[in-house]
Amino acid sequence: MHIHILGLFPDTFDTYFSQSLLGKARAKGLVTFHYHQLRDWSHNKHHAVDDKPYGGGSGMVIMADVVCAAVLALKKDHQISRVVLPSPAGSPLIPAVAQRLSCEDSLLFVCGRYEGVDQRAIDKVVDEEISIGDYVISGGELAACVITDAVCRYIPGIVGKADSVENDSYQQGLLEHPHYTRPEIFEGVPVPQVLINGNHAEIKKWRKNESIKRTLERRPDLIDRIKGAKPMSNNQGTTKKANNNG
Ligand code: SAM
Repeated sequence: MHIHILGLFPDTFDTYFSQSLLGKARAKGLVTFHYHQLRDWSHNKHHAVDDKPYGGGSGMVIMADVVCAAVLALKKDHQISRVVLPSPAGSPLIPAVAQRLSCEDSLLFVCGRYEGVDQRAIDKVVDEEISIGDYVISGGELAACVITDAVCRYIPGIVGKADSVENDSYQQGLLEHPHYTRPEIFEGVPVPQVLINGNHAEIKKWRKNESIKRTLERRPDLIDRIKGAKPMSNNQGTTKKANNNG
């Protein structure tokens, strides 16, 4: 998997992508990261990439011509298979979306800033918009990191044991059970007895029950989703250009 990130702050990523699982995956050649400075495609003598919004209002908007020129050039040079714009207006980042994207050969993330990107560029060169949650952050860089991390967990060989991804929260529609490690008693609180008796059938049952209990307490909406038998299909969340299809 080749990850390309286009934005105004390409230096943001390297520390994160050099650590832990992604750092190891990178060292093994399972994933490569490439950063591209959007200003390199500005025709403006000051390398400006943004301008005031038509219709007035606060903030600046990233210009369509710069984004289109950058994406088309990167597609030509790097055989990008999917262009993703992190956006609060995108489809929610759910496991099925991350899993689907993990099957791509190469992704290009276009990182917005300010008020966002001119809609005409989105309509022209972006394949898909993805939101990392119902809140607004200051730029697409952090969102691209979050999406990349979630996607890479599905690439075979990146997470040590495949079953740890399969048992993760949301994967089966539930939150994961709580975890414990040594010491057996911490400040007077013991580890649940069932986890130290070595009975794997009992442990499995306990974990399932805890997972359901925790989901009911914290995210009853997930239980409703399971009851409604609305499976997370691979097609879910493929909102392309939200306002393109009417
Ligand atoms: N004015 C925009 C709005 O209200 O929808 C927010 C723009 S935000 C300050 C700048 C950039 O951060 C966006 O273009 C997008 O790339 C990124 N961003 C912000 N929140 C995000 C989220 N929840 N998910 C994904 N990307 C986000």
